[in-house]
Parts: sequence; structure tokens; C-alpha cells
Amino acid sequence: MTYQPTIGLEIHVELNTKSKMFCSCPNDPEERHPNVNVCPICMGHPGVLPVINEDAVKKTIKTGLALNCQIPEYSKFDRKNYFYPDLPKGYQISQYDTPLCEDGFLMINGRKIRIKRVHLEEDTGRLVHEKDYSLVDFNRAGIPLMELVTKPDLRSVKEARKFAEEFQLILRYLGVSNADMEKGQLRIEANISLRRRSSKLGTKVEIKNLNSFRALARALNYEIERQEKILKAGKKVIQETRGWNEIRGATLSQREKEEAHDYRYFPEPDLPPLRFTKEEIKEIGAEIPELPQQRGKRLKKEYKLKNLETEFFVQNKDLGEYFEKVVSEFEPRLSPERLSKLIKLATNYLITDLQGLLKGASVSGEDFLITPENFAEFISLIAEEKISSKIAKTVLEEMFKTGADPSHIIKEKGLSLVTNEAEIEKIIKEVISKNQKAVLDFKKGKTVAVQFLIGQAMAATKGRANPKIVSKILQKILKKL
Ligand SMILES: [Zn+2]
Repeated sequence: MTYQPTIGLEIHVELNTKSKMFCSCPNDPEERHPNVNVCPICMGHPGVLPVINEDAVKKTIKTGLALNCQIPEYSKFDRKNYFYPDLPKGYQISQYDTPLCEDGFLMINGRKIRIKRVHLEEDTGRLVHEKDYSLVDFNRAGIPLMELVTKPDLRSVKEARKFAEEFQLILRYLGVSNADMEKGQLRIEANISLRRRSSKLGTKVEIKNLNSFRALARALNYEIERQEKILKAGKKVIQETRGWNEIRGATLSQREKEEAHDYRYFPEPDLPPLRFTKEEIKEIGAEIPELPQQRGKRLKKEYKLKNLETEFFVQNKDLGEYFEKVVSEFEPRLSPERLSKLIKLATNYLITDLQGLLKGASVSGEDFLITPENFAEFISLIAEEKISSKIAKTVLEEMFKTGADPSHIIKEKGLSLVTNEAEIEKIIKEVISKNQKAVLDFKKGKTVAVQFLIGQAMAATKGRANPKIVSKILQKILKKL
């Protein structure tokens, strides 16, 4: 490629506080009735006074700290003036020159992506466009909105996407937002410019309407191609805002970029400035849990998981936590080899079978009935060859449905392995008398006939026989024939 892309991201996040940013209206993203969570404050009536939501401030600082940001001792809110139908006050309370968090970074595949700032503002209402008219819902107006701005450090579409995904995961680990893109709780804007290697930065274009990680990647790829064409033709890229159109698979020009002075920012006169002591910041920092990248490193080391397994448990936080609880239920005095076998089995059954049964539901949900203790017992039964892998499926399904413990299910349903050799011998003799052709084939030297007979015997026991014992006894009988 002749041109190198330079990408920066601006990501808006709706914080999951109980109430809105400056009033006591509920912050309820599930509310389906329009314009019910509103009051004179978030509607900007004359004479009302906003009050700062402390939880929103703490959640923003927490996020900033998790992203290695500096938290200045002083911060304030500013008014950003503009008119739009979804903005009832005619201005948005935001932060201009004193963000709550600044100068952070996030490591993405070993590269340091610098974060310019993380600040706090309020969300706008939501416009619903119909054919001949538009409707507005103000339930969202005034919800705490956190904005992260990166430095233009991202060098590829892949890296930009990875950054956004990692940030979403961090928000979920911190518990500050569900960050569901489909619900608009996480919204991305990207800016991108192209330059020839080692020359100065090119003119950047901002892309809006990126409602999924896929849209982010598609829009960036589209822009790289579009700008490359312009530059190769010897023309200049215009600095502008473009919107991603999912259906047309293209970015379309919306408007040329506003400057900050167009918004006539000034300090919000109705709110006091914020000051934090070092102790207060430290206290918030102490609430930060283990973050995805730390967890990944620990899981890999502690349980000797493979990369894909580690990634799976980091991405699926609840299932990762469940996995650790299951492992903690295994007998601690087991030999390292035995324990490692159990961990491997547990990993496989969680990632494949249980994941399949869950169908997207969470193990932390109320409907999930299998206790870690029962799951650990289930894994031990498989390891001790008390049940076959086929029976294991049935047992797990039953555990998933009823929450019963596996030994109970096995006993109740008569699912335990037939290990009594005399009983197995009897079954095999019946199978042989019913399948004389296969026996003849075997005598002619066709070894596949043995596999066929083992299959028949297994079927006769409904999969409850130990295949190793079946094979051993069958070989013995066939030799005597
Ligand atoms: Zn309100």
C-alpha cells in the first residue's frame, strides 16, 4: 500500500446510573413509552437548577483510571451551544477544556494506543424519522454520557476494531455500562486520514453512524479506498463529516467540520466546579476489578489454557468466573496430572456442550440451575469413566433442565456404565448370533466387521457399556469362533 491510514476514535457510552445526569428522572433504557422520564430540569425550563450525579462522575473516573489516565484535581462542566430538535435546552452540558480524565493509554496487541481524554456530558433525545415527519422521545435526554477520545494512534482497521472491542469489554468488567451497541449504549465515531509513509498527517474525515463493530470496519475500509482514489488522482481530500450508510455500504458527505468556537463553549454557570483529593481518587481506583487483559494472563498461567480458550473465558466473563468456581471444587489433593486432566475436560464441556445448551443465556442468570459443585462432580464422573461421553450429553441436558446433581440423574435414569464383564459378554453373544454375516466377514479378514459389532453392542446397551471392555471381550469371543 502506498498510503498509511491514521485513525482516531471517539466513543460515546451511556452510563448505567439509576438517574439522569442532572436531575432525578430514571435512567431506564428499557422504557418503551416515549417522553415519560422527563422533568423541567432535563427539559431545560427557565429557572431550574441542575445537580451533578455523583455516581456518573465516579464511574467516569473509574473508567479513566482503568485506562491509565491522569485525573486532574480540578474539573468543571461547560455549555456547548447549538440547536437541534433532539436537544430541548438549546445547549448540552459537556466538558470542554477540563475533562475528568486525560492522557491515558490502552495496549492493543503490544502497541500503546494513547487516550487523549475521557469526559462526561449528557445525552440528547432520540429522533424517530417517519416518512413525512419526525418524532422525538426525550427519555434519553440528560442521561449521563461518557466520551472517550483517542489520539490518532491507530494504524489499521483491524487495530481500530480491536481497540473498540477491548474498550467495550473493559466497560463491562467495570460494570459502568452494558455497552450494548444495538441499543445505542456504545456509539462510535471514527476519524481517518491517509498519508504517504513518514510524511505529515493528511486531511482527516470524520465518520458518524457507526452502530456496530462491523460497520466501523466496513466504513473505515470504504474511506481508505475513497481517499486513496482522490489522492492518486492528485486531488485533495476535503475535511468533512460523513455518515455511514449501511444499506449502500458507503460513507456520504453530511457537512463540513465545525470548529469549537461555533459552539460558543463557556463554563456552565449553574454548576459548581469539581475538586478531588488524592484520597478520593485512590478510593475510586480501589474499586477497579481485575481487567480483561490481566485476567487473560492469569487464566493462561494458572490453568495452562490455550490462547483460544483463554480468549473465550475473558470475552465471556460470567462463564470464565463459573469455570474458576468449578475448578475450585475439584479435590485439592489430586495429583497435578489428574487435576490438569479435569481442568481440560471442564474447559471443553463448558466451551462446547454447556455453551450450546445456554443458547446465548448467561450462567449468572436466575434460570441457570447447575451449581459449580455439581458441574465439577459431572466432570469427575467422566474422568473416572463412570459415564461415557454419549451418556454425559444426556446427563448434562438433564442437569441443565432440572439442576439435579449428576449422580442422582444417573441412578434415577439407569445411566451408569455397565462394567460387569459377564453382563457385557451376554450382550455380545446376542449381538453375534444376530449378525452372522459380520462374523463371516471377520473370518474373511475384514477388520471393519469388528468395528461394526462393537457399534451394535454399544447400541444394545444404549451407550452405557465401556467401549474398551466391549472391544476386549468381543476380540476374545471372535478368536474362539
Ligand atoms: Zn429530568
